Amino acid sequence: TSPHAETIEALKAKGVKYVLASFVDMHGVTKAKAVPLSHFDQMMEGSELFTGAALDGVPQEVSDEEVSAHPDKSAIVQLPWNRELAWAPSNLWLKGQPFEACSRNILKRVTDEAAQMGFVFNLGIETEFFILKDGADGKPVPIAEGDNLAKPCYDVRGLLDNYGIVDEIVSAMNELGWDVYSFDHEDANGQFETDFMYADAMTMADRVTLFRLMVNEMAKKRGWYATFMPKPFANRTGSGAHYNMSLASIETGENLFKTAHDPRGCGVTELGYHFIAGILRHAPAICATIAPTVNSYKRLIRQGSSSGFTWAPIFVCYGNNNRTNMLRIPLAGGRVECRAADISSNVYLGAAMLLAAGLEGIRERLDPGQPHLENMYRYTDAELRDKGIRWLPRNLEDAIDAFEADPLSHKVFGPLMAKSFIDFKRQEWVEYHNHVSDWELNRYLKFL
Ligand code: GLU
Ligand code: MG
Ligand code: MG
Repeated sequence: TSPHAETIEALKAKGVKYVLASFVDMHGVTKAKAVPLSHFDQMMEGSELFTGAALDGVPQEVSDEEVSAHPDKSAIVQLPWNRELAWAPSNLWLKGQPFEACSRNILKRVTDEAAQMGFVFNLGIETEFFILKDGADGKPVPIAEGDNLAKPCYDVRGLLDNYGIVDEIVSAMNELGWDVYSFDHEDANGQFETDFMYADAMTMADRVTLFRLMVNEMAKKRGWYATFMPKPFANRTGSGAHYNMSLASIETGENLFKTAHDPRGCGVTELGYHFIAGILRHAPAICATIAPTVNSYKRLIRQGSSSGFTWAPIFVCYGNNNRTNMLRIPLAGGRVECRAADISSNVYLGAAMLLAAGLEGIRERLDPGQPHLENMYRYTDAELRDKGIRWLPRNLEDAIDAFEADPLSHKVFGPLMAKSFIDFKRQEWVEYHNHVSDWELNRYLKFL
């Protein structure tokens, strides 16, 4: 009999026909082969093979041996929008070993390191995204007529006009056991956020990966589309993916960032401050993974939304419950929110870099200095220089340069993935840079 008989029976009873042996490419986009339940056992042994050369971020020659997907049985879920399918997040293997250039393996290596230090890395990600349709002129517009308010932030009309799809998304999340605690209309037309309970980082990375796939599919079913592009509209707020981070004791589960006595007043322990300091040290390199596209850097600016401010950070800094910082300690304390991250990020890679930097801060007992309680958007360049506050990378090229120059990136990614990531992202930058845009034509063609 099959060692997986119970799982197979349970899936069959729920009406599942096929299991998607899934993994992500460098961009956090899901790739899979569908396997009929009758072949579940072989799938669990790694029967599903993939030609790495066809995938972004799997640096292989077309002539190389294929990588194989090894599903994580505990993470398999039935898809709420197509109950005949189950989704099985998998680790990639090559020649009988975990493959070093697999996003899930990369995160696993760092969470294992955390476990050796006695920590579980808990992560809660706020998912901001747009649901749009093509307007008469082919330009993207909100799906509901009533969602064209000048100040859509928190507006209940914007939410209720889009209730059908938003409720479908939230109900699916709850069916999956993610425990949504609130959702709202964000600061841009057609933009929403769903907030749900934190979990260990691997579980959260799996969930956000599935979330992107799910919301896309649900929108498509209605003739619309979802976008996880960080800044689709220059004059509207972008889509962040705030990473809310804490370390718990592996033995007791106790949150080791939580304290009632914080002399610095933000509400985290000394361990939390060391963690913050590690992230600040490596912030530019980390940005390459949490703000990984050309477009990401159009979100990390001061102005550009209907509120007059973007809500997105621009400097390497931390503070209390103050959203102009890269790292914020929200009111309740006990966790650190990284606001530089956007929803296009591959959460396995972003979480791996953030955790590795935080652990370094703990090992070296780094001190992040005093928190910033002031409005960081008000600083001039001269004041910043005086205070020694660094800008976050201003564009993808700066971020990739920082990533390449930082030994931590190479340690976390491993040589194969580091090279592949740097090469790919540099090429992305060059293509963008070499493109002559409408803005340039309008600005220069007839005026110089
Ligand atoms: N949408 C904002 C961003 O781009 C964040 C808004 C918020 O603080 O919830 O980061
Ligand atoms: Mg938000
Ligand atoms: Mg937030």
